[in-house]
Amino acid sequence: MISEIEQVILVGVEPLYYLIDSQKRIFWMYLLSSGLIALGLVLIRRGGVFDALKAAVSPKVWLAPSSRVDFYWFFTNHLIRVLLVVPVLGGGLTLSISINRVLYQWFGAGDFWQLPDILLSVVFTVVLFVMEDLSRFLIHFAYHKIPFLWRFHAIHHSAIVLTPITLYRIHWLEMIINSVRSLIVIGGVSALFIYLFDNAIHPVTILGASVIGFLFNMAGANLRHSHVWLGYGWLERWVVSPAQHQVHHSIAREHIDKNFGATLAVWDRLFGVLVLSQDTRVEGFGLAGKKVEQSFLSQQTGL
Ligand SMILES: [Zn+2]
Ligand SMILES: [Zn+2]
Repeated sequence: MISEIEQVILVGVEPLYYLIDSQKRIFWMYLLSSGLIALGLVLIRRGGVFDALKAAVSPKVWLAPSSRVDFYWFFTNHLIRVLLVVPVLGGGLTLSISINRVLYQWFGAGDFWQLPDILLSVVFTVVLFVMEDLSRFLIHFAYHKIPFLWRFHAIHHSAIVLTPITLYRIHWLEMIINSVRSLIVIGGVSALFIYLFDNAIHPVTILGASVIGFLFNMAGANLRHSHVWLGYGWLERWVVSPAQHQVHHSIAREHIDKNFGATLAVWDRLFGVLVLSQDTRVEGFGLAGKKVEQSFLSQQTGL
């Protein structure tokens, strides 16, 4: 039997498993592909490879006060998620079964259509991806526009050094809201498909990750939280590039409340807040006009 303290310590080191989990942004293959893309950019731009490698592993970046705060949030949020969020909220499957039951009770027997399995898998994967991305955009928009929520989301924006771990620099309240959002979307979309179709529903996956997420992450998604500038050219009207997310983190006033998108740029375009990376320069990251103390404890009640 392991004691409760040992259990907490074990849960505490679990985030290290993110490196071998294809559903996490910092999965080793996604980190490696981002690293290789960054190296390719250095070569194309005729920079010094040695200097670039030195900069990539520099303690000045990874142990900067800002980065240390990222790590605190990373580990704390995992602990809260495992000990509180998952036990209380349960998994998407439980919610999906409950929604499904309600649909049957309200609207009678479902299973109206049957499609070839592979076609339905593709449709399900695309619909789930679009709904996830739209809900992420809307909630991100709300974080910026509603002062009570901004107070907590500002913690993500208070990072002045960006590393792939900055993705996890979010207040625990934001983490809980994001978990509920994800649960509702995955549970809701799955339940609807199970109700409507007489097929078994499976998303299209690569190594256990949704195929669209996998491809997006392999396209250098980790560079969005880094100091490497990578634009996607004309594709940025459709897909958010790392450089576009860096614009979202930019300290410049003209970049405030721009590029909210997670993966698709179309929502930003619809809301008139899309900024392309071409002809744009980012001078620094952080909160415009506000110097924030890089202290994990002082961030607990928001900024
Ligand atoms: Zn934001
Ligand atoms: Zn970010």
